[in-house]
Parts: sequence; C-alpha cells; structure tokens
Amino acid sequence: MKLAIPRELEDTRVAMVPEVAEKAKALGLEILIEEGAGASSFYSDQDYESAATVTTREKLLSGADMLLSINPLSDEEYKKLKKDAIVISQFQPFLYPEVTDKLRGMGLRGISLDMIPRTTLAQSMDVLSSMASIAGYKAVLEAARHLPRYFPMMITAAGSVRPAKVLVLGAGVAGLQAIATAKRLGSMVEASDTRLAAKEEVLSLGAKFVEVEGAREDKEAGGYAVEQSKEFLERQRQEVQKRAMKADVIITTAQVRGRKAPMLVPKETVDQMRAGSVIVDLAASTGGNCELTKDNEIVVHNGVTIIGNSNLAGLMPQDASLLYANNVLNFLKILVKDGQLTLDMSNEIIRGAYFTAEAEAQQQ
Ligand code: NAD
Repeated sequence: MKLAIPRELEDTRVAMVPEVAEKAKALGLEILIEEGAGASSFYSDQDYESAATVTTREKLLSGADMLLSINPLSDEEYKKLKKDAIVISQFQPFLYPEVTDKLRGMGLRGISLDMIPRTTLAQSMDVLSSMASIAGYKAVLEAARHLPRYFPMMITAAGSVRPAKVLVLGAGVAGLQAIATAKRLGSMVEASDTRLAAKEEVLSLGAKFVEVEGAREDKEAGGYAVEQSKEFLERQRQEVQKRAMKADVIITTAQVRGRKAPMLVPKETVDQMRAGSVIVDLAASTGGNCELTKDNEIVVHNGVTIIGNSNLAGLMPQDASLLYANNVLNFLKILVKDGQLTLDMSNEIIRGAYFTAEAEAQQQ
C-alpha cells in the first residue's frame, strides 16, 4: 500500500517528516514523497531517502493508494488519482459539506483529520490541538514583535516599565497556550470563555478569569462551545470593551464549530484602544472575532495593529510538521494492519474521520 505525500503548494509545512516516515514504513507502508516537499520545513530530500522514495508530483499522484496532505489539493490533481484511492487531509466537511459529493464524484474516499473525535483515546491523533497550540504560542510572539513596549515589568537605571496587559478571548487549546506563553513573558493576563470548564484551567495558569453571566453550554457538543444568544454576546462585548481600553494586547481565539466566529471586538472597541496596542485574531479564517480583521493580512487602525494570520503554525514549520506527522502516524496505526488498510467502522475514530463512508454506501 503506497502512502504518498505531495509538497504543500501554499504552506511551509509538510505532512510527513523523515523520522516519522521511518515509523510509517515499519507499519508495512511504502512511502512516496515529492521532491522538495520538506524544503520549507528544513527537511531535505536526502533526509527522507532511507524511509521513502523521493519522486515527482506526477508519479506520486498516479501511484498513490493513500494521498496525505495538510491542505486539500485541487480537483484537477485529485482527478489524477486511482479510483478508490484514499485522500487524507483537513477537508472541514462540516464547513464545506459539498466536498463529500465532490470526492465521491471522482471515485475517491475521504478521511478528514479535523473530524477525528476529540476524545481522550484520540488525543494523540488530534491535529487541531497540535496546530492550535502552536498558533497560541506564536500569536503571543507575533504580538510581542509588533508591540512597541516590553511584555515583562522592567526596573532599570533608566526607569521602570509596567508589565504589558494581555486579554485572551477564548481559552481552548490555542487560548490556553497563549495564556501560558504570555505569562512566561512576564505580562499580566486575563482571559474569558463561555465554557465554565475553562475557568479552572485559566486560573491554574495564573491568569485572571473574566466571567460573563448567562453563557449557554452543551455537554453533547464534544467539548466545543455552542452559539450564544444575541443578548449574551452584547453583554460580553461590553465587558470586553472595558478591558480592551486597558489592554496592550488582545488575542482572540473564540470559535464555534461549523459556524462563523462570534464577533467580540467591534470597531468602537478598537477605536478606544491605545495606539500601539496589538490584536492577534486566530479566528480570522472563520470571519474573525474582531470586526476589523482581514484574513491573512495585517491592518492598522488608529495605531492599533490587527493581525489576521490564520496559519500561524506555518510560521513554525519544522515542529508543526513533526507534530502533524506524529498525529497522522498514530491514526495510521489504527487504520493499517500488516500494510493493509482496515477501515473498521466499529472504531469510533475511523467512523468520525471517514466522512465519505455514508455516501459510498448509498452509491452501492
Ligand atoms: P475551538 O477552537 O472550537 O474554540 C476556541 C475557544 O473559544 C473554546 O474554548 C470555546 O469555548 C471558545 N469560545 C467560543 N465562543 C466564545 C465566546 N463567545 N466567548 C469566549 N470564548 C468563546 O476549541 P478548541 O480549542 O479546539 O477546543 C475546545 C475544547 O475542546 C478544549 O478546551 C477541550 O475541552 C476540548 N478538547 C478536547 C480534546 C480531547 O480530549 N482530545 C482535544 C481538544 C479539545
């Protein structure tokens, strides 16, 4: 069974790194990797040679039984695959439901790594968590890079500097890592989330928790937040506004699965922030938590820098690729037995990720 990994065309990461390719090979897989696939993450073709066959994109696409990537490929390229080949990527079918019929129309089977259930058993396969954690870390470093001030308190012969104030909205995987990183840099941190479980985690990191009364939660949502009422979001925006006026940095990570991100920082709030302040909006790709965010752009409004980079993990490609590949390897361990594919639908992880299964059954 051939597992093929193409070069990412618009990403610095690669879905498989040499040391993990060795382990995937040990599962009985034959690994094909495109020439130069690891170059932007600082893995050379030579590094892969003992575990994989380094080849051209054309040969890789025509030879693949399973095609693994970080971002989905174009339809034109998927059409070059064998019938019944398995494509493994992050298709986000809950945001783009049309992808199921599209892949089935090409005779392909789809596995979406972002659909792996967020259970303890599947934690080691959770690419969303690995990448969100890097994004949270990098968000703080990017904020520090743009902030015209220190993060820590400084007492020097030339005078004293107060520590920066950081507000983190959304304390999930990315938010918690942002809090931890901002604390390590010596800033004062406060954070808010609609899930009450987040409160204890925020406090345990030494940050202050900002609670807004009346949040809706749903235990059936698999650890995810649910959409909030208009009244709640309005109360929350007022609370954010009070704190934003004093904040040097706001990091927003609030997402609601399958929906547009909640708008927590309107233009009026940005208008009231001090010049030089920085907002890093990790929800940029789903509409942004700040009204002024532009996806994949940095905008400056009244001296406030708003960073809407939705692929912060791509700024740290070497470790991001390593962790992504490790997540994939852990998933392959339940998918491949003696080099052969076993799509065991009694396994809830496979059932969650193998999103074209139902459409395939209907076609037969
Ligand atoms: P996410 O990226 O979907 O959302 C980020 C955060 O935004 C969440 O904490 C959410 O509650 C919060 N949020 C949504 N609306 C908000 C609003 N109006 N105001 C403030 N915050 C808001 O979530 P995530 O970080 O991927 O994960 C969320 C939770 O899922 C985790 O904290 C954890 O409890 C659970 N989880 C479990 C596992 C596992 O067990 N394998 C893995 C990952 C996550």
